[in-house]
Amino acid sequence: MLTDTKTRKLEEIRPESGRRLRMYACGPTVYRFQHVGNYRTFLLGDLIVRVGEVLHSWQVQLVQNITDVGHLADDTGIELAGEDKMLLAAREEGRDPFDIARFYEAQFHEDCAALNIRPADVYPRASESIDLMVDLIEKLIAKGHAYVGSDESVYFDARSFPSYGALSGNRLEDLRAGHRHDADDLSVGKRFHADWALWKHAGEQRQMVWDTPWGRGFPGWHLECSAMSLHHLGETFDVHTGGIDLRFPHHEDERAQSNAAVGHEVVQRWVHGEHLLAEGRKMAKSTGNVVLVRDVVDRGFDPLALRLFFLTGRYRQQMNLTWDALAAADRRLKRWRSRVAEWAETTSTAMCADYVQRLRDAFDDDLDTPTALVALGELEKDPEIPPGSKFETFAWVDRILGLDLARDVGRPRDVIAELPTGAAELLQQRAGARDAKDWTGSDSLRDELAALGVDVTDGPDGQTWSVRGR
Ligand SMILES: [Zn+2]
Repeated sequence: MLTDTKTRKLEEIRPESGRRLRMYACGPTVYRFQHVGNYRTFLLGDLIVRVGEVLHSWQVQLVQNITDVGHLADDTGIELAGEDKMLLAAREEGRDPFDIARFYEAQFHEDCAALNIRPADVYPRASESIDLMVDLIEKLIAKGHAYVGSDESVYFDARSFPSYGALSGNRLEDLRAGHRHDADDLSVGKRFHADWALWKHAGEQRQMVWDTPWGRGFPGWHLECSAMSLHHLGETFDVHTGGIDLRFPHHEDERAQSNAAVGHEVVQRWVHGEHLLAEGRKMAKSTGNVVLVRDVVDRGFDPLALRLFFLTGRYRQQMNLTWDALAAADRRLKRWRSRVAEWAETTSTAMCADYVQRLRDAFDDDLDTPTALVALGELEKDPEIPPGSKFETFAWVDRILGLDLARDVGRPRDVIAELPTGAAELLQQRAGARDAKDWTGSDSLRDELAALGVDVTDGPDGQTWSVRGR
């Protein structure tokens, strides 16, 4: 069961086609780093995938777009007036816009891996899907849902789609003239204030442009997701996820485009994740409180502590990230890993059915991860349950939680207990670097370890280390 934004109710999620759940997740805009709030949204998709696979034996087909053309939304979700963000970033960084896009795309994949967010099946890039978008626009024009404006841009005719507003509650009659829901100064050729651009005529400044039957230009952002989801998942699919700020206008417009093109409801369930605040405020460049995954690691935390922190809140609740909360999550993560390693050394016993049921119920109840974590906390301390059974239950549930809880199994106890987070891995890497006679690598790893408070000395028998202050 998940909360559907459109019906505003808890709804059963069931794949239309047998055991294959088809899902689309709005992906990253790759002209900047994704912040941890973005990753909280991506984690929502990952949880749906894992719960589907582990609890329901579904095979999940996940498509996530890479927005690498420059017409992007700013922090408020409103498109900036004719501004090419990719070009802007390229100018600032003195690089080719496509180099910028590939750099941030690679960073996105790296961060997802650090957070155990499993890869999607396909990551279509907007810049490589222009043909799909042009085809879709032609279809919409032919069906009378779109028109070429006086400025050579193509617009969606909002009034041609009667159920506009069903997702966000923003009905056309409430959207006043002059309401800048697509605040694009180039949109001078539209007939009605709530129409939005599917294709935008390019000004001289733009670098990322394509030729079409309507002239040289670039696609509207909302169009990208319609074109890709219809192409990769078909005319009906089960779940569409995204951050709450995408509900309007992005998803409202996407729904209108997709449904108008095929003549029926394309997305069965819309699931939106709430905002992550940082130290009590919305994360924004202008506020200076943007937190990246690398900031979390730089502070000495395991990136999966961030994942555990996210799981302490439900996806449709706002959460407030603080360094204290992250430190608490990091401690709990380490404690669970060391417990799991202890339990692993006892005889394995069957999972405890009561706890498994509680965990299943929690995940199936609109991804109630906080309740699942409470159950695990009780299981950890329950004197009635044999350790071998605790081990099996934690190992099983970690297939959903994705916290690498069995990471310390089989490691020497004293080493795990004393080293700060991440240091054991660095020591291992450094030993490898020295074996390979990679002295530069070994020196920089020594510096990294020193920053964590671990001093390394090289002797005839390899490296030895000491933790400062202990
Ligand atoms: Zn999207």
